[in-house]
Amino acid sequence: MKTRRKFIKDCGMIAGGAGFTYLSSGYPEIQNFKRSGEGIKLRFRPYELNLQHVFTLASSSRSTTPAMLTEIEYENVIGYGEASMPPYLGESIETVNSFLKLVDLSQFDNPFLMEDILTYVDHLAPGNYAAKASVDIALHDLVGKLMNQPWYRILGLNPEHTPNTSFTIGIDKPDVVREKVKEAKPYKILKVKLGQGNDREMIQSVRNGTDKPICVDVNQGWTDRNMALDTINWLKEQGVIFVEQPMSKKAVDDISWLTQNSPLPIIADEAVQVTADIMKVHGIYSGINIKLMKCGGMRAAYTMIRLARALDMKVMIGCMTETSCAVTAAAQLSPLVDWADLDGNLLISNDVYEGIKIVDGKIILPDLPGIGIRKS
Ligand code: MG
Repeated sequence: MKTRRKFIKDCGMIAGGAGFTYLSSGYPEIQNFKRSGEGIKLRFRPYELNLQHVFTLASSSRSTTPAMLTEIEYENVIGYGEASMPPYLGESIETVNSFLKLVDLSQFDNPFLMEDILTYVDHLAPGNYAAKASVDIALHDLVGKLMNQPWYRILGLNPEHTPNTSFTIGIDKPDVVREKVKEAKPYKILKVKLGQGNDREMIQSVRNGTDKPICVDVNQGWTDRNMALDTINWLKEQGVIFVEQPMSKKAVDDISWLTQNSPLPIIADEAVQVTADIMKVHGIYSGINIKLMKCGGMRAAYTMIRLARALDMKVMIGCMTETSCAVTAAAQLSPLVDWADLDGNLLISNDVYEGIKIVDGKIILPDLPGIGIRKS
């Protein structure tokens, strides 16, 4: 009792009379919370995502994606996270495993100090963005659950403002493309992969099945800017609304010229990974595609959205092939963006979570705390 009286007296001295009532009722509880002494626990296990279709991009083809599922536990509450490692980003089960072994969260006993915890994680090693995202997402999920609020609400975002999500159609033969167009019936925008020499055939195959708006992703596949502009002019007539990464991220002059002359917005994907890259692509591209696995998680993605908006750039939020965990985490930020490409969970056959739903093509955020998922 004596200690408590002294504590209240100290608080009163620091905070002054006006703060006394608040501090005497609220602050000791937070002190107890901080002093639980249990620390924060991180667990992780590898998981192979099976793709429903062999996935063909301008540069590669594959039927599985390696992933790492993470859990962060504090006082019997568990937050879920995930790293997904498509091979072209350079991370693997081995690199994510090595990175996560470096992460010692037991030194922290207050999960609400997200800035301290995530700065510590960020500084453990350069790169490793998918590994970092797996910690960032799990910590967001944990903290949201401890607050009993979903992240869109913590960030003050309107869940009615989620965009329609696109559904991705990989490069394939016309009959396969037509089947995928049928599969994409619930979606209002289609994202069509181009860049392997059969661009017009791909678009015509899609157009034979639907007149929905299309966005295209060339994945750096075009090499000649005049050919690229001709194709973009033709794509506009076909009802295409924007073009993602038309040429190599290194072809800065060509892309700058293309953006100036293109009737459609040109969006950077491979050319922009983290916040600092936005300054490099500003003035070169019309907008950016943000992905949690590229930038290190929700905190970095939120910063990127804010910076791009301040620079008057278009913003798209996308994903890799992922479970509903990372996809739903990204969807929490989607009320802030122009376009969403959050279909990664629908491209796999062995999801382990339930999260966002797509109703009439629009993202519906779950009414669940944290990032909004439950185990399925
Ligand atoms: Mg892309």
